[in-house]
Amino acid sequence: MKKTKKSVTPLNFTGGWDYAPAPESKDHVQLKDRYDLFINGAFVKPLSGKWFDTINPATEKRIAAVAEAGEKDVNSAVTSARKAYDGVWGKMPAKERGKYIYRIARIMQERARELSVIESMDGGKPIRESRDIDVPLAAAHFFYYAGWADKLAYALPGATPRSVGVTGQIIPWNFPLLMAAWKIAPALAAGNTVVLKPAETTPLTALKLAEIIQEADLPPGVVNIITGAGTTGAALVNHPGVNKVAFTGSTDVGKIIQKALAGTGKRYTLELGGKAANIIFEDAAIDQAVEGIINGIFFNQGHVCCAGSRLFVQESVMKTVVRKLKDRLETLVVGDPLDKNTDIGAINSRMQLEKIKKYLKIGVNEGGEMYQAACSVPSKGFWCKPTLFTNVSQSSRIVQEEIFGPVLAIQSFRTLEEVIEKANNIPYGLSGGVWTDKGSRIFKVTGELRAGVVWANTYNKFDPTSPFGGYKESGVGREGGLHGLMPYLQHV
Ligand code: NAP
Ligand code: MG
Repeated sequence: MKKTKKSVTPLNFTGGWDYAPAPESKDHVQLKDRYDLFINGAFVKPLSGKWFDTINPATEKRIAAVAEAGEKDVNSAVTSARKAYDGVWGKMPAKERGKYIYRIARIMQERARELSVIESMDGGKPIRESRDIDVPLAAAHFFYYAGWADKLAYALPGATPRSVGVTGQIIPWNFPLLMAAWKIAPALAAGNTVVLKPAETTPLTALKLAEIIQEADLPPGVVNIITGAGTTGAALVNHPGVNKVAFTGSTDVGKIIQKALAGTGKRYTLELGGKAANIIFEDAAIDQAVEGIINGIFFNQGHVCCAGSRLFVQESVMKTVVRKLKDRLETLVVGDPLDKNTDIGAINSRMQLEKIKKYLKIGVNEGGEMYQAACSVPSKGFWCKPTLFTNVSQSSRIVQEEIFGPVLAIQSFRTLEEVIEKANNIPYGLSGGVWTDKGSRIFKVTGELRAGVVWANTYNKFDPTSPFGGYKESGVGREGGLHGLMPYLQHV
């Protein structure tokens, strides 16, 4: 990579690094102009007769048209999943099921570059992330759960695990392929069949996954992928033929789904919003912590449910940390998601950008001190400069509410008791982070933070073997690891 320095003073850093463009090639990517629904092992025209466009948020250009599944299409997908469950998949020896799942994982690896580029084009995330995180982790989930398929009985001594039936799965736009893997892999390993609905703005990698599923010769109907908007998701949730709903998305929609499912006997897991606290104690390795905070909130434009969007810094190091964060902010590269140098890509949609901008105004109106990197952003597309807020209080809306963008709210604290109280004082409880040199303090904080995942001296690390999920309004149930299989099994 060719680097050219431009007006950089190493101390009191005020300039930026200019990198020569390093665009990832798109030549190997094959996209159709129009995608139909993947039902019963084939791409079929929607009975609704409707399609919508998916765009590239970095250019606002149309990429392809995608089918919009109506109620009849949802019914057709659920019927096909039921037929496949009763006729083939539910009866198949677990060892055979596992082989199919391995095959999907291997083809995903073979097509990793194509998947990464499409993920960045459709969703706006930097290619470095899709290439190094999303796609390898998605394949790793299929590998991991393939291994579980024939070991369920051994994993749960004294129980006879059985599948649940047809699962309806709905995913958001921030990790499209990875969320599809989190949902589909454990469902299949446990012997269930699937109807999956990706998000309206990022349907393409799920449709590519449908092609991979075809290539892997999975029996028709075992996985059905239906694109559409919120109404398609609602029709799937409410379909009487669905035995379990797995939803990842906002807390607002999660509540609607939970209400709709009450009393139906359907199982459900809900992975919802978050407002994670990162806590830096004065004895922490400050530079390492600053890097972790930057990664925790600006990674994927802050479109991360577990983004470290609140920062608590012990008073004695507050000034130093804020200065270092500001310096680091200036070095972040914002721009073309397909450029390998890019740290912060495009905001996923115009709607999401409007939401973030609304919160920036709220933050300023509430008296917050806003600092944005001095970088320029492209004229076309949806962009938000990395932003810090200081002078905020516990009751500020930007401290309490999920923004889902590259916006960090910073507060100081004096004692451990105070910071635990503040960190827990929000409706969410998905994740958190602690930065300190003392092991005992790590255990104290991780034990008292009411959050599903707490990282210590690192942030945003994922592994298929590790369960993930929230407390309070961040959701119900766990995904990942052995815990992630449980919702897909009965009589355990
Ligand atoms: P969202 O608006 O709730 O949408 C999530 C999915 O639900 C999309 O596929 C959406 O379709 C669909 N949907 C919308 N209304 C529905 C309804 N009434 N019934 C059924 N489905 C419906 O969330 P988002 O904005 O895409 O994603 C961001 C949110 O996801 C954030 O709050 C984030 O924290 C959360 N998230 C949580 C986790 C976790 O593991 N806890 C992981 C990732 C993201 P359309 O896209 O077509 O509207
Ligand atoms: Mg798109």
